[in-house]
Amino acid sequence: MSQIKNNFIESVGNTPLIKLKAASEITGCNIYGKAEYLNPGGSVKDRAALALIKDAQEKKLISEGGIVVEGTAGNTGIGLCLLGNSLGYKTIIVMNDNQTQEKKDTLKNIGADLRLVPPKPYKDDGNYVKVAGRLAEELKSTNNNGVVWANQFDNTANAKGHYETTGPEIWEQTDGKVDGFVCASGTGGTIGGVSKFLKEKNKNIKIYLSDPTGSALYNHIMNGELKAEGGSITEGIGSSRITKNFAEAKIDGAFSISDQESLPVLYDLIQNEGLSLGTSCGVNIAGAIRLGKELGPGKTIVTILCDRSDKYNSKMFNKSFLKEKNLPIPSWL
Ligand code: PMP
Repeated sequence: MSQIKNNFIESVGNTPLIKLKAASEITGCNIYGKAEYLNPGGSVKDRAALALIKDAQEKKLISEGGIVVEGTAGNTGIGLCLLGNSLGYKTIIVMNDNQTQEKKDTLKNIGADLRLVPPKPYKDDGNYVKVAGRLAEELKSTNNNGVVWANQFDNTANAKGHYETTGPEIWEQTDGKVDGFVCASGTGGTIGGVSKFLKEKNKNIKIYLSDPTGSALYNHIMNGELKAEGGSITEGIGSSRITKNFAEAKIDGAFSISDQESLPVLYDLIQNEGLSLGTSCGVNIAGAIRLGKELGPGKTIVTILCDRSDKYNSKMFNKSFLKEKNLPIPSWL
């Protein structure tokens, strides 16, 4: 394959699998992380952004000069804005005001029109996803080139993007020898698309959801009840509802992962393996370790390294913040 990428779009995907040493040693398995932080916008959500934009283009909903509106925890917004910049689209991002300053700054710095809203439950009309949907509707009449609500949660073009790219990449990179896949769900796009692809290849591949405390999905999978307990400092993952993308997922079981369990995994990876990863990666890797212990030694397990730690400096490396929440503090701070 040519090493030259002609633009943003061609630079999305085809990320390497990185062996996670400690996780593999603890379990006797081969645990690999798919290095999605190497995407051009810095996260797994570049794949969703591309899939959603392609869907809008195929439906002839947008052309140069058009506007993309989206409600996001940040990463999808960054992907949409950078991709949109490369195609001549404007980007309006609606985000909860409790997300890290790092993500707010990045969105502003790359030219997104950022609208911050106070966090509200999904059933509330003020919920950021619903605000984004209404805003796109209101703006439609003002732009002849199209105004699109990307709708990453319920537009299944998102999961389809992972079905067509992330899933096949994992299958090929492991020579079809993958025994388990585990990751958290935000929109459900990743787990929806990857699980569907892998189960079609081999129905015996175990698919597990790694769910942060404070999300209702763990109880939904294990007890059939959408019920949340506790909370988490992680961003971009967990849900109070079954999105259309999550509904596509073929899931065998779930783990509930607390910050107390996931943060030490992240700090250890920085110190001993040189991988400085974002908060959702801690939940993913802690889940992969749990799955490795459940499946037993010798198995090949894949998870997702969604983004880097630099978007979460003000949480992950903030001593007083961590202390206040009774969370582990990296030994070198
Ligand atoms: N990790 C991070 C850091 C994210 O931003 C997201 C998406 N919100 C996810 C994981 C979850 O991915 P998905 O939306 O495909 O479920």
